[in-house]
Amino acid sequence: MAENLKKFKIPSGMKDILSAEAYLWQEAEDKAKAAFNLYGYKPIRTPLLEEEGLFNRSLGNETEIVKKQMFVIRHSEDSYVLRPEATAGVVRAYIENNLDKTDSFVKLYYIGPMFRAERPQKGRLRQFHHIGAEALGSNSPYLDSEIISLIKYILNALGISGYELKLNSLGCPEDKQKLSRMLQDRLKDETEKLCPDCKERLNRNVFRVLDCKNENCKQVVSRLSLTPEDYLCQECSEHFSAVKKNLDKLNINYTLSPNLVRGLDYYNRTIFEISHKDLGAQDALGAGGRYDNLIFELGGPKSGAVGFALGIERLLLVAGCRPHGHAGQTKVFVVTLGEEAKKEGFQLLDKLREADIASDMDYENKSLKGQMRKANDLGVKFTILIGDEELKKQSLLLKDMASGAQEEISFNNFIGEIKKRL
Ligand SMILES: [Zn+2]
Ligand SMILES: [Zn+2]
Repeated sequence: MAENLKKFKIPSGMKDILSAEAYLWQEAEDKAKAAFNLYGYKPIRTPLLEEEGLFNRSLGNETEIVKKQMFVIRHSEDSYVLRPEATAGVVRAYIENNLDKTDSFVKLYYIGPMFRAERPQKGRLRQFHHIGAEALGSNSPYLDSEIISLIKYILNALGISGYELKLNSLGCPEDKQKLSRMLQDRLKDETEKLCPDCKERLNRNVFRVLDCKNENCKQVVSRLSLTPEDYLCQECSEHFSAVKKNLDKLNINYTLSPNLVRGLDYYNRTIFEISHKDLGAQDALGAGGRYDNLIFELGGPKSGAVGFALGIERLLLVAGCRPHGHAGQTKVFVVTLGEEAKKEGFQLLDKLREADIASDMDYENKSLKGQMRKANDLGVKFTILIGDEELKKQSLLLKDMASGAQEEISFNNFIGEIKKRL
């Protein structure tokens, strides 16, 4: 043993997902994929690295993410960022691959890791995972309602209840300007009560005041009594009404939350957040909304888009599923006695797999008893036993693990016999 060698540790804010838990992740991902398929969304895979400038321009220079949380990688002259979210990359891909010209309207989904250099704490990792979707190339309010219906479907499929859907509209850029001025106006007299950060935000990005976690700021914000009617133009007001009406028709519950603004600059019109009471301080399961100007701002055509992302780690925290060993995946375990039997067993194992029967054998030179225990732990349906006697007869002993019954079966037709019994 090399006792003096340094043992490496996982980087701070990251997590190993071991097998029992990884099976739960796969189940959740499979259910999400089925839902996306049902709603007509197709997969897209964009790289984990994007040019740094992409996020500065899309998320906004004043956002927490761009100011403090990006993992920047410099390589010769270039500057890349480990993606803190996927929307900007998907829009970049939409434009770069001319999807706006070939398909014009596309519905895309992704599942994968995101990175933010935050101080790690409960519910916040530096590598976390998103299930998300983007519908690019349409301003239709039906799409906003559909994407929320899709989220509801996914949460349902994962057995998640007790969540709350918060809904708001920021309106078009002009309305956002109006809202920003209204907020500055209403907060002016309360400046002294705000935290130092918010005092600064007041002029640079007043929306951030609404997100502040400081208790005093929260109190000030709660007294603002904002309503979208105060700042939405006719068109945006109609769009928001249509979204709400459609949600009502689909029997989807929502809470109108005038103080909801979302942390990123690119959002406009409909925005939403899904929170869950069991999550504690970091209670958002996911969020999303419209970003009708982002495609244009990144060099594409003027066309609307809407998207969302759900955090896989948080979904699994409230899904109430427990890690399990996933016993029963392996159907057959090959047990051998002696070196010659092992050689034969190894070939039979290959035949089982060629026949798509999940199977395995011992690689630790375990005793007969040890091999049987392993078969038991794996929860297999059958073991195949081969010793000197069996080799001579070119047959094997097939043991049904549930009943304990044993049968002798010839090497020639053992696959067919096993298939009959599976
Ligand atoms: Zn408007
Ligand atoms: Zn504050």
